[in-house]
Amino acid sequence: MAERPQHAAHERGFAAAQIAFEPDFQPRRKRRRQSRPKHERSGFIGKLHVGCKLFIIGRMSENDHLLEPVRDATALPHLTALAADIRRWAAELGFSALTIAAADLPGAGERLRRWLAAGRHGDMHYMARHEAERSHPATLVPGARRVISVRMDYWPEAVCAAATLADGGLAYVSRYAVGRDYHKVLRARLQRLAERIGAAAPAHCRVFTDSAPVLEVELAQRAGLGWRGKHTLLLCRDAGSFFFLGEIFIDLPLPLDAPVAGHCGTCEACIEACPTGAIVAPYTLDARRCISYLTIEHPGHIPEPLRPLIGNRIYGCDDCQLVCPWNRHTRPSAEADFAVRHDLDRAPLTVLFAWSEATFLARTAGSAIRRIGYERWLRNIAVALGNAPKTPEVLTALRARADEPSALVREHVRWALARRQA
Ligand code: SF4
Ligand code: SF4
Repeated sequence: MAERPQHAAHERGFAAAQIAFEPDFQPRRKRRRQSRPKHERSGFIGKLHVGCKLFIIGRMSENDHLLEPVRDATALPHLTALAADIRRWAAELGFSALTIAAADLPGAGERLRRWLAAGRHGDMHYMARHEAERSHPATLVPGARRVISVRMDYWPEAVCAAATLADGGLAYVSRYAVGRDYHKVLRARLQRLAERIGAAAPAHCRVFTDSAPVLEVELAQRAGLGWRGKHTLLLCRDAGSFFFLGEIFIDLPLPLDAPVAGHCGTCEACIEACPTGAIVAPYTLDARRCISYLTIEHPGHIPEPLRPLIGNRIYGCDDCQLVCPWNRHTRPSAEADFAVRHDLDRAPLTVLFAWSEATFLARTAGSAIRRIGYERWLRNIAVALGNAPKTPEVLTALRARADEPSALVREHVRWALARRQA
């Protein structure tokens, strides 16, 4: 659950991160309930347009999410037609797959609690907050009956990842972050999809993109979007794991999709390839050792024993996915927004380390990288320079930052210089 593209990443509470297609969802529900006659309050009537047909349906009460959901899936054939329409609209918007799960995750809370109790979330204290909302999505969006999960593939047309990783003078940026900020891209498309659903049916939708206490891999897995790999990310047969997930919470009892079987078999390639041993057991990640967490989420000093293992990875890490056999045939995404910007797939460390704060802010505008801020950016590159070949350029670059105003950066530069001069 460290910062990897499918994982809860920027949950700074609910504040700016929560995306609401209908921001006043709850107050509007209340207003309408209060204004409706009493006999309608427990199941009011709505209209649903599917193709050229009009259906009249009874809405569930707000507590109906506690009932067995399969009941309504077969009883409401018009919702099956709506689900088919939603899939078609999603494909038109560039989503590669869409599945539907019940807005409840029995058992997920217990697993999350065990993970938190072991301290494996490191500084991601937000993971410990809103546990009820995570394991019971209907608590997060009252009245929600279903969670629609969508997949958007992002693998960019870029220099071979292995070649960049093998060249210690270059910076490796996780491939999900070399283009535009996926939150913006995904959010805009999800909102359009939610609006389209809202125009066809009396539905209340709420859109999330990796931004609220939502166990999105868990939900997507339950709905058969893929299976959880031993590296803990979601995998699917046709696209491996290089994709983003987004969700729409909806208060209609759409038919549910069934989970799919896992296909990791006896493979443990991701566990063996992890540079820091962060996958401590199949399906268990210790975020405190994960390079994605250390370079993105972790705000302070990177533990010294882990620094040499980070190599030239300055923002995130893809190693456990790069070795996965299901990613062998990944094709580049056609999305222009995910195309590489500013040569971030092959930039020399010394060039990035020389960026002023103004340059950093200008070049990372609209990029997920900007969220870590200039200080962590320099900290991460200092570590990578400490692992880089001992060239005069590397030494010059480090010495130029020896008196940085930030104590955090200075300490990492000192460490790197000591390694270079040893
Ligand atoms: S390979 Fe290891 S360090 Fe890298 S993202 Fe995967 S779990 Fe984290
Ligand atoms: S590398 Fe192997 S074990 Fe790991 S997720 Fe892929 S198939 Fe599963």
